[in-house]
Amino acid sequence: MKILVIGAGPVGATFALLAAKSGLNVSMLEAREGPSRESRTLALSHGSREVLERAGAWSQTLHATEIHTIHTSQKGGFGRTEISREDGGVPALGYVLTYADLQTVLDEQLVNANILVERGATVSAITETGEGAIVTYSRLGADQNTNHETEYRAAADIVVMADGGANLGKVPAIVVSEKDYGQSALLGHINTDTEHQNRAFERFTGDGPAALLPKHGAREFSMVWIAKPAHIEQLKVLDDACFCAAFQEHFGYRAGKFLSVTQRRSYPLKLRTVSSPVAGHIAVIGNAAQALHPVAGQGFNLGLRDAMALVKSLAKTNENVTTRLANYAQSRSRDVDRSVGFTDFLVSAFSNDHAATRIPRGVGLAAVDMLPFARKALAKRMLFGAPR
Ligand SMILES: Cc1cc2nc3c(=O)[nH]c(=O)nc-3n(C[C@H](O)[C@H](O)[C@H](O)COP(=O)(O)OP(=O)(O)OC[C@H]3O[C@@H](n4cnc5c(N)ncnc54)[C@H](O)[C@@H]3O)c2cc1C
Repeated sequence: MKILVIGAGPVGATFALLAAKSGLNVSMLEAREGPSRESRTLALSHGSREVLERAGAWSQTLHATEIHTIHTSQKGGFGRTEISREDGGVPALGYVLTYADLQTVLDEQLVNANILVERGATVSAITETGEGAIVTYSRLGADQNTNHETEYRAAADIVVMADGGANLGKVPAIVVSEKDYGQSALLGHINTDTEHQNRAFERFTGDGPAALLPKHGAREFSMVWIAKPAHIEQLKVLDDACFCAAFQEHFGYRAGKFLSVTQRRSYPLKLRTVSSPVAGHIAVIGNAAQALHPVAGQGFNLGLRDAMALVKSLAKTNENVTTRLANYAQSRSRDVDRSVGFTDFLVSAFSNDHAATRIPRGVGLAAVDMLPFARKALAKRMLFGAPR
């Protein structure tokens, strides 16, 4: 059985490594040619670390920063909660790392595992044949000096779409739904005068949440500021000093005084889901299967769980391909529905400034902080995904 993966990003590469370890025949097509330069910060749960360990991709060179405590509060209201690694019964609640560092380790592991990755290959069509699927892609020809792209076709028994959603529109059987939150996220790296001591912060405000994730440097955080798109565009062009002052006013001093900021960039926030992660002989995983609002840091973790679940279903070689793919779709529905619902609930419950919601929000945060079992349940939810 030949499996062809489109996209060797973090989820596609993890899937391929796990699939190869399970004895499956897997190869990949990837548009990117050189090393990844993506400066995006990824927040990983403890469960995701376990998945990367299984794939052989957890290494010192990831420079992963452990999260020991998550401090949550709301602007202009009472109530705060602090979840610690002791609540989760794990060495760390999560890990913060850079996309490019993770991708570098995964790329090395793909080479070590002898997995064929055709790079510079951009997929343009996916056709279901009833027996499998055919993928059309273009790549610079043998004579690269001419800059002439050549079109190729590859047939496979199963095609795994792990392309972040770039080709979703090319598979008519997969219906895509989108919900625009009317918010954008401003990302950046910020330095403070106070050591973070592995604490992450999330602050709910009337405009939307803001978060700080501890980074490799003792006083360095990755920042996310969520607000209306027009406001984010204004914040993006402020000079560094004015930006730090504005963020200080918004976030308060719980993480110290903000001294400098770099790499500010923004993106619009949408929820995107698919009608089913399986259509014929095509399976969808990672950001292609669901793109979530970053409020709960669930998106990437969910994608890694897709990868794990698909390998588990495909490795059952005593079943036919249709049954294996149906099992994958069925095995993901509960986790995906709950993670989407949980994230969507947090966005709507914590992104407005009405007193009517501010008070219950405060009560909720205070209750989580006072009741050990509630703290443990929340910690578990963030660490390992939806309860089964
Ligand atoms: C702008 C943005 C900012 C984000 N910020 C954060 C954040 O701060 N923190 C966080 O935890 N998560 C963040 N996320 C989510 C996180 O990036 C994803 O969960 C994660 O990247 C999912 O990995 P993936 O492998 O599924 O998809 P991707 O990372 O999108 O990888 C897809 C891969 O497919 C390849 N590809 C695409 N099209 C084709 C094609 N036609 N042919 C061949 N190959 C193709 C790409 O080159 C890439 O390597 C962000 C997402 C976006 C879009």
